[in-house]
Amino acid sequence: MPSAVVSDLFFQCEHCGTSLVVDRVAAGMALACQSCGADVTVPQAKEDLAIASGVSPSSTERKSELQRHLKENESQRTEITGYINQLTIQLHRWQLRLQTLTERRTELSAELASLSGET
Ligand SMILES: [Zn+2]
Repeated sequence: MPSAVVSDLFFQCEHCGTSLVVDRVAAGMALACQSCGADVTVPQAKEDLAIASGVSPSSTERKSELQRHLKENESQRTEITGYINQLTIQLHRWQLRLQTLTERRTELSAELASLSGET
């Protein structure tokens, strides 16, 4: 891109409407109008404003796209969390069942040992 296009800033005097051209580095500064002599504030370039505020048509689209992704992400997180909760409950049941079976094995082994001792 030619540097002249990048560095030149076009705007109108807010008092007399004369079209003024200044270097972009003057953006935000107060100057005397070349035509009417009144103080005018050089505006920020549109591209600079878009970057500074983070709001432009493309970033607005990106924002709604990101919000859709976030919503989908949250919905999947809820689904997976539900699975984990169900399986955690099932795991707890299996652990209790295993504990019961282990205790039962101990009882059976002890009873078997006592009968073996009698004979
Ligand atoms: Zn003027």
